Amino acid sequence: MSSYNFSAGPGVLPSSVIKQIREDLEKEENSHYSILEISHRSSQFDGIIHHAEERLRQLMDIPDDYAVLFIQGGGALQFEMLPLNLANQKNKIAVLDSGNFANKAAKAAQEVGKEATIVASSKPDHYRSLPKLPADFAAADYDYLHITTNNTIEGSTYHQENLPKTPGHLVADMSSNILAEPYDVSDFSAIFAGAQKNLGPAGVTLAIVKKDWLAEQKIEGVGPMMRYQSYIDKDSMYNTPPVFSIYALSLVLDWVFEQGGVKQLYLNNQKKAKRLYDYLDQSDFYQVPVCGQQRSLTNVVFTTGDNDLDRKISWQADQEGLHNLAGHRSVGGFRASLYNAQPMTAVEALITFLQKAEREHKS
Ligand SMILES: *Cc1c(COP(=O)(O)O)cnc(C)c1O
Repeated sequence: MSSYNFSAGPGVLPSSVIKQIREDLEKEENSHYSILEISHRSSQFDGIIHHAEERLRQLMDIPDDYAVLFIQGGGALQFEMLPLNLANQKNKIAVLDSGNFANKAAKAAQEVGKEATIVASSKPDHYRSLPKLPADFAAADYDYLHITTNNTIEGSTYHQENLPKTPGHLVADMSSNILAEPYDVSDFSAIFAGAQKNLGPAGVTLAIVKKDWLAEQKIEGVGPMMRYQSYIDKDSMYNTPPVFSIYALSLVLDWVFEQGGVKQLYLNNQKKAKRLYDYLDQSDFYQVPVCGQQRSLTNVVFTTGDNDLDRKISWQADQEGLHNLAGHRSVGGFRASLYNAQPMTAVEALITFLQKAEREHKS
């Protein structure tokens, strides 16, 4: 029986990358040390981290005036680092509340002493749609506008074509769709993403920060580990970086490149998502809460409308090798994560299973 992992994160990795890691661990280099045992000051790791940065710059077409940083602490730490480093003129940020993670970011900014204003929210609509930036949004009142490009839990996305337009600084949490679809980096002043959704194993988080903007900030009362500048000054090695996670990330980035880059993966992802959404839309047994262009390519959220039945079907799916399909505990239902490394065969197997479940449970 084949087995597929639909987990939202940590998520599926390319099988060739897993194979490479296994081989690298077994291979004795001249040094006789594996990647798990090497110093971050070794020339071997220096090559890896620089290669990862260069590959990412190439894949996302990141302009030279942006720093690319490797940080620990996940997306959640970025919810605090961003306001501490980049909200020092007005001490105020604006947030588009498109889901659970946007909401968390707003709360974290408040916790670190900044004022976070929700300028629009789709919470009253149970996050089935994306909030729209109000036409009278006063960008000059805030240090930046925080958005979540892909709402991992709710299954909605601001794609490049429907990004909110602000004359001020735009900051994006791309944790669950970075490299899954193209974005123009120069539309943003900062981007961050935890690796464990689409880039590698857990343990490392990317931050891409416009250097001029950071240089304008007067940062006070913030220790070195929480300052982007420390990571810039020390090539992300102010302290010991997550060596293994960065190594695995560099392999995933090479894999993305070999697949044909973001453009090609975007085409693949559109095909996978369309195949699943088309099936769900023609079925009168399953419903997709998010509509049209706002739908996510990487996290497909759906339900039968009956929580107990959803749970039962997820359990049956698991028995048949289709793992981690249950929706986030806060929303229930199903969530099929179709990250870059998810093959089309997984989508086909899922649809075959869902058809069977529909026949079995439809009254
Ligand atoms: C997973 C996720 C986070 C949180 O990431 P952690 O690494 O667990 O802190 C933040 N934002 C989005 C959009 C996510 O999907």
